[in-house]
Amino acid sequence: MDKSQYKGVMIIGEHFRNKIHRVVYELLGKGRELADELEVKLSVVLLGSELDKKLEELGNYGADEVIYVKSPILKDYYSDLYTKILTELIQDKKPEIVLIGATPTGKDLAPRISKRLNLGLTADCTQLEIEEETRYLLQTCPTYGGNLMATMKALNSYPQMSTVACGIFELPEKTDKKAKITIIEKEYKEEDSISKILKKMEKEKKSINLADAEIVIAGGRGVGSKENFKIIEELAEVLGGEVAGSRVPVELGWMGNERQIGQTGTIISPKLYIACGISGAIQHLVGMENSDVIVAINKDPNAPIFEVAHYGIVGDLHKIIPELIKEIKKRKIE
Ligand SMILES: Cc1cc2nc3c(=O)[nH]c(=O)nc-3n(C[C@H](O)[C@H](O)[C@H](O)COP(=O)(O)OP(=O)(O)OC[C@H]3O[C@@H](n4cnc5c(N)ncnc54)[C@H](O)[C@@H]3O)c2cc1C
Repeated sequence: MDKSQYKGVMIIGEHFRNKIHRVVYELLGKGRELADELEVKLSVVLLGSELDKKLEELGNYGADEVIYVKSPILKDYYSDLYTKILTELIQDKKPEIVLIGATPTGKDLAPRISKRLNLGLTADCTQLEIEEETRYLLQTCPTYGGNLMATMKALNSYPQMSTVACGIFELPEKTDKKAKITIIEKEYKEEDSISKILKKMEKEKKSINLADAEIVIAGGRGVGSKENFKIIEELAEVLGGEVAGSRVPVELGWMGNERQIGQTGTIISPKLYIACGISGAIQHLVGMENSDVIVAINKDPNAPIFEVAHYGIVGDLHKIIPELIKEIKKRKIE
């Protein structure tokens, strides 16, 4: 393998109903940093059919080139057809790094591409850096059930490929940067895919969107019961935030799994995160440690959550939260 043939950072884009997924913009931010460090170009690839109006904005978020493979059938996600097109494109363009969102679609697509090209793939990365002397991509992700963080580098295959969940990297600032736009028009047919879409079903709408919430109040085992979650709800209400939790209240049936924060739940970075009765297991921390301000309420002064908290309150949450609510209400009136 001649590594010198490979140059550039490539982001694989994703969209749904002509709306580009937020993770693509986040990856553009990180991709820009990596490309600048390597002194190479940053490109983003989109497969779709009605995305023409979205292309320019990808330049505003950092891309040097937008490659748009356009065909009516590509408005829907066909696993094998997408894999084939992207595999060929990667072989042709030879980027040294390929980044994909760890969304359900990305998690389906990335292993297929990596197998076709015989590449290493590091899934669910939480950190990406360049090793200065070698240009290798250092890809950090949780391993052994999330109990360890491992940093990998792909020594024997290029390009280096990683997936990253939404919410891990920050959204970059929008600028007036313009990208080169390359449109590749194709006439793919359903027969080009071995899979067929027989029916599309709407997923039941969830009334919450944790990923976009600015204030999140989360409870853990320490809350004690489903009934006790009322004080968490009340605190969320006075602060105008969303209620969430660690995995324990979800497993105990105190709340739905759409509210779980962490490695196997949602990864968020709100302005304010208040952790109530949550110990701070690594699988929970990866879901919230990028929050701007973290407040932890825990009766155990040695709880690991205090290591990431900006403000810590040691004590019984059942006494502290009612006092907090009272104080917030008082200040709101004043
Ligand atoms: C593969 C894998 C994936 C996982 N994914 C996730 C995930 O996505 N999200 C997640 O959260 N976990 C996940 N977990 C589980 C994780 O390891 C922990 O078990 C879980 O986060 C612990 O939840 P907790 O902090 O609510 O409970 P505990 O660890 O039991 O902590 C309860 C805390 O409450 C405090 N407390 C008790 N009573 C009070 C009180 N009255 N006032 C104040 N504090 C009190 C205690 O001091 C303690 O620190 C995963 C585990 C594995 C193996």
